[in-house]
Amino acid sequence: MDRKVELLAPAGSLESLKWAIMYGADAVYVGGPGFGLRANATNFTIEELKEGVEFVHQYHKKIYVTVNIVMHNEEIDALDEYLKQLEACQVDAIIVSDPAIIHYAKEHTSLELHVSTQQSTLNYLGAKYLKQIGASRVVLAREASKEDIKDIMNHVDIEIETFIHGAMCASFSGRCVLSNYLTARDSNRGGCSQICRWDFDLLENDDLKRGEKPFTFCTKDLSMITKIPEMIEMGIDSFKIEGRMRSIYYIATVVSTYRNIIDAYYEQTLTEKMINDAKKVLDAVANRESTVQFFDGYYGKDCQYYNGRMELSNQDFLGIVLEYDSKLKKAKIEQRNYFKVNDTVEFFGPNHFVNILKIKHIYDEEGNPLEIVNHPRQIVWIDVETTLHVNDLMRMKKRD
Ligand code: SF4
Repeated sequence: MDRKVELLAPAGSLESLKWAIMYGADAVYVGGPGFGLRANATNFTIEELKEGVEFVHQYHKKIYVTVNIVMHNEEIDALDEYLKQLEACQVDAIIVSDPAIIHYAKEHTSLELHVSTQQSTLNYLGAKYLKQIGASRVVLAREASKEDIKDIMNHVDIEIETFIHGAMCASFSGRCVLSNYLTARDSNRGGCSQICRWDFDLLENDDLKRGEKPFTFCTKDLSMITKIPEMIEMGIDSFKIEGRMRSIYYIATVVSTYRNIIDAYYEQTLTEKMINDAKKVLDAVANRESTVQFFDGYYGKDCQYYNGRMELSNQDFLGIVLEYDSKLKKAKIEQRNYFKVNDTVEFFGPNHFVNILKIKHIYDEEGNPLEIVNHPRQIVWIDVETTLHVNDLMRMKKRD
């Protein structure tokens, strides 16, 4: 295998970009100030983009910018200047969907072009066409099965990017106007209000059909952690994680978990147990159940919620390590969720895995003992025998 697969992470802000890179992403994708599909995410200004590019390139990683809006007439005039700005920022590629933008960018810039999943590419004729018009990579539709992916790869020499983790769309990757219709928020201009996850009354000839729980057509999430070896062996070029609006804890956890599994595969140290453990870690940061969705060629009832969806709020993220005093063997922690003496916690960081610890003592900044840490961003010290590093994260293992 000549080339290692790329692990591509979302970044909704400069902060999450930095955490994604620190925790093992090979590349990040971000939204710029215009022409993207995440109106609600913290899109980057041009100045932030420049800073992001500089940071990412310093680590010899890459940054791609979404320009995947379905363009309306009134946006055409701003396109040229916007693309030139992205070119001047030296981003590594733009992610495009509208054929007009693909064509324009090819004619008027030297930007590398990745075709967005919004284009719903599922066949090799489509992929061949995208290559002909100048794309170097295609992000396949989330609906692609492994047979679809193999077929495309057998017929077309173009980089293939597939989703490995994150939320799904009940429609065909965003081709849905439910949000526009019910909330006047356009899903193809970044405004999707996730109507598919709402609860609905189900009527048949005006008769209300109500089960124990209301009807929903919310999909479960995607998680390909158990399929990583198979996907690497297929020769896919890039593994994409969804979620530009996610927290730094989510990004760090998901990126580092996939990073460990991918690296172990190449180092030939990957075991079944490592995959099972990784799955548990990913399940713990998810707020819905997950499946491999379309990958095995079967999209069944297990991939979907029909009556009531499970939404868990995650309180596992406890804090960030700000400092480690190796003489006193104490870690300085900035609190993110409440924890207390006798909780069992784990730490993980970019270059090392988890140390499990039962918290015996907590001290405030003046050295006074504490039982509970329950103030947002409270700074405390705890005893930790094993060396920790700045920006390691602390999460809950078990509460007594
Ligand atoms: S409302 Fe649901 S189905 Fe429609 S675009 Fe949004 S996520 Fe997709």
